[in-house]
Formats: sequence, C-alpha cells, structure tokens
Amino acid sequence: MFTFMARCWLCQQPIYHSHHGICSHCLRHLPTPPTCCPRCGLPASSSSLACGRCLQKPPPWHALLFVSDYQPPVNTLLKQFKFQRRIELAPVLARLILLQWQKRYRHDFLSMPDTFFRPDMLFTVPLHKQRHWWRGFNQTELLATTLAHWLGCDYAPHALTRTRKTQPQQGLDATTRRRNLRNAFDCNVSLVGKRVVLLDDVVTTGSTVAEISRVLLAQGASCVQIWCLCRTL
Ligand SMILES: [Zn+2]
Ligand SMILES: [Zn+2]
Repeated sequence: MFTFMARCWLCQQPIYHSHHGICSHCLRHLPTPPTCCPRCGLPASSSSLACGRCLQKPPPWHALLFVSDYQPPVNTLLKQFKFQRRIELAPVLARLILLQWQKRYRHDFLSMPDTFFRPDMLFTVPLHKQRHWWRGFNQTELLATTLAHWLGCDYAPHALTRTRKTQPQQGLDATTRRRNLRNAFDCNVSLVGKRVVLLDDVVTTGSTVAEISRVLLAQGASCVQIWCLCRTL
C-alpha cells in the first residue's frame, strides 16, 4: 500500500506532522544566535535591556524579532522559498517565526508588555508594482497571511503601499539610503492605539523597516514590532 510520508526539509527523515516541515530534532538544533538587544536585534550584552546604541539613538520601532542570522539552514530555506518559488515552504517558515515569537512572548510579556506583544495587525514591506509583476508574487505576503490566521489578527496587504520606485539599497551609505526611502511609503488606514507588526524576510541595515515604522507611527500605531526570518548580524 502506498502511503505518502512527508520528509523534513533539512534532514530528509520522515516526519509525522507533515505541515511542520522541519522535524523536532532539526528544530532543536537550529543555530542559536548570540544574545541580542531586544530593540535593534544586534549582538549586545543583554536580551532584555536596550543596548547602548539604542539608548543613544533608538530606532523608530520598539522591538525586533528574528529566527536566525543570515546563515544556513534558514537562509537556504528562504532562498528556496523566494527564488525557486517553493511556496509549500510558507507555513514552514511562518511557523519558525511564530515559535520564536511565542518563546519571547511567554518569557517577556509580564516584564516588557510593549516589547514582544501580540499584534492587532500585521503589515508587510510592499514591493513596487513593477517588481511585483516581474517576480510574480510577494513571498512575504504568504508568510503574513499564514501568521495572521494563526494569531487571529488583521492583515491588509493593500493598506501599505510603495508610492514610488526606489533605487536598490545595496551599496548606498546610510544618509543616501534614508533619502532614497523618504516619502516612498503610504498607509491608508488609521492605526490609532493599534499594536502592529511589520514583517520582512531579511533585515540588514534596517533602513526600509525604519522608514515604514515612521509611517505606521504617524498613522497612530502605539507600538511597532519588526519580525523577520533573518537578521544580518
Ligand atoms: Zn530534520
Ligand atoms: Zn539595540
């Protein structure tokens, strides 16, 4: 008799919960990132207090959550999802983010209620229409739809838009990045008193998520949390 047995994306061993995609052994052995600042997500001496950089010059968002540094196996899965269009990885990757958030929420909610909160609404970094058309899909939207369903929160993919095409950020210095992104995003919903999460696949310098955080706060959001799969450290 033929029975379909799903296999772990990482070790290829059969797994019982096919929708998990990654077996519990591989999940336990994902590389652990170093201790990082809860606000900027960069290596620091404490995971519960903002680092010196953030005290001096805080980013516009309130907390940053990530699954892994930009390294295997998480970045390999992300590349398969994004460039080889393995959309069946969407729930697998979304689950990695959810597990990471649950861990922080359970651990820190009482002491830091405005840090790793449960969101009212999710947002994703919008692609310009032209790039969306060229790539055919915005992979982060698939992650957001899955996460919003699990969390029971709102996700409005068209509430946040990119109003103009910007140059790729690679190779630009910090000031030029900031100028390149200024007024590039617009949000058409009121967020008064709402706790929101902005989801992106990879956060490197943080200039894009910073610019969007400013837009969300200007719409009245009370707290902004950034969630990503990979944070380059
Ligand atoms: Zn495995
Ligand atoms: Zn920091």
